[in-house]
Amino acid sequence: MSPAVPVGEAPLGSLVAPEPDERPDLWPSTLRRGADGALVVGGRSLTEVLADAPTPVLVLDEDDLRGRAATWASAMFEEFWPDYGMAGGDAYYAGKAFLTTRVARDVLAEGMGIDTASRVELAVGLRALEQLSRGEATGDVADEQGLDPAHATRLGLHGNGKTEDEIAAALAHRVGHLVLDSADEVDLAASAVRSLRETGEYAPDETGSVMVRLTTGIHAGGHEYIATAHEDQKFGISVASGAALAVCRAVVDAPELALHGLHSHIGSQITDLAGFREAVGVVLRLRHEVAQATGWTCPEIDLGGGYGIAYTGSDPVPPSPQHVARTLADAVRAVCAELGDAVPHVSIEPGRNVVGPTTITLYTVTGLKRVDLGDGARRLYVSVDGGMSDNIRPALYDAAYTALVANRRPAPGTAPVRARVVGKHCESGDVVVRDVDLPADLAVGDVLAVPATGAYGRSMASNYNLFTRPGVAWVSGGEQGWLIRPETLEDILRLEGE
Ligand SMILES: *Cc1c(COP(=O)(O)O)cnc(C)c1O
Repeated sequence: MSPAVPVGEAPLGSLVAPEPDERPDLWPSTLRRGADGALVVGGRSLTEVLADAPTPVLVLDEDDLRGRAATWASAMFEEFWPDYGMAGGDAYYAGKAFLTTRVARDVLAEGMGIDTASRVELAVGLRALEQLSRGEATGDVADEQGLDPAHATRLGLHGNGKTEDEIAAALAHRVGHLVLDSADEVDLAASAVRSLRETGEYAPDETGSVMVRLTTGIHAGGHEYIATAHEDQKFGISVASGAALAVCRAVVDAPELALHGLHSHIGSQITDLAGFREAVGVVLRLRHEVAQATGWTCPEIDLGGGYGIAYTGSDPVPPSPQHVARTLADAVRAVCAELGDAVPHVSIEPGRNVVGPTTITLYTVTGLKRVDLGDGARRLYVSVDGGMSDNIRPALYDAAYTALVANRRPAPGTAPVRARVVGKHCESGDVVVRDVDLPADLAVGDVLAVPATGAYGRSMASNYNLFTRPGVAWVSGGEQGWLIRPETLEDILRLEGE
């Protein structure tokens, strides 16, 4: 009799990771099993990938990234097409999910903007614009508009507690979406515009275009730490309390500023679109109130990101970008008709959904430990050469992942065992995959592939236990290079003081 699973857990065999052909949405689009049973991605066999990029390593399928970016951009473009009575639509990639200059160039080239959350993310976005506008792109640029770093209309900057310098930098580059998060930030923006007028960077009557981040009170998403729109939290300005209306009025009244739009981000890893429909109502009603109070109708609304993805075979296939865009367009059309308002330009900021599924993390199995749990139940602990320093999400959010043996197909008839894939850090919560069924013949030296690690993996990496942070390789058309080189001991020591 094969060992049982612990009481209360899913039946043995039900947690085997889906093969790429079973659940294509879970894996990079070019990933498949090669004739020898090992994975192939971006036209490169696993052996080729690992020869240039040893484990632990993240591997990003660049064709998939460009394809997903193009799909989001065109879905918003088409569903909000002005000839259909709409006022245009855009998708901004939320760079905090994972950003390098090459990633920024890729998504800009496919027609997305980039929403940034810090000074350095903004600088990376600007660097990508500079390279694209000098013709250093790796491919055709879908839309030349907004590629001028001095008129960076396709970049955004958001975040609570922005400093004067951050706001001034965003205004100096005329980013399309500068999202103010408080009444204080309105004052900082107005004063930055006065300085820019004084130095001549702005014309004497030029205004700074800003958006206002709303707290809509809508709670959506899988986990407390990533559900951002309920009232008791650090982001945004409350609609319900009247504070948002007051801040919008202050922006309209400020001679230095123009109220470009209203911004809402209701949470993350959302697969039920009802929350977004509700947010559309709250945002458009406030837009209506602002218009009644000031005479100014905001030309744009930004509905933020949060579109979920599948991480394991138990997760449903998420709504497609086309379905998301159509749902939002229907909601915007209906609410505007009800209010008698002109339809605004609508933008969204998907991050996870653009980059998450494009990337796998490859780990080598470095240790195996079988634990007897009584009543015949067993768990196989699988140690790998990475962990919480390259993926904090299981520890931070209880996030579920899965893992597939990447270097071979399991021998036919091999039984599964209930396994837990764990990292090598000094922390018992250092889990990579909490529950997964792996073949009983798993051995030290096997390579595991964890899917959907492109978002909030490397971007949240740390040096805990002085692990060097792993590299991120790109693969495409049989070629391979680094998006981020693996960190070295020298990189760590270089930052030490005396
Ligand atoms: C995090 C964030 C996003 C992206 O969220 P995803 O869940 O990755 O789509 C978009 N906009 C804002 C303001 C955010 O904070």
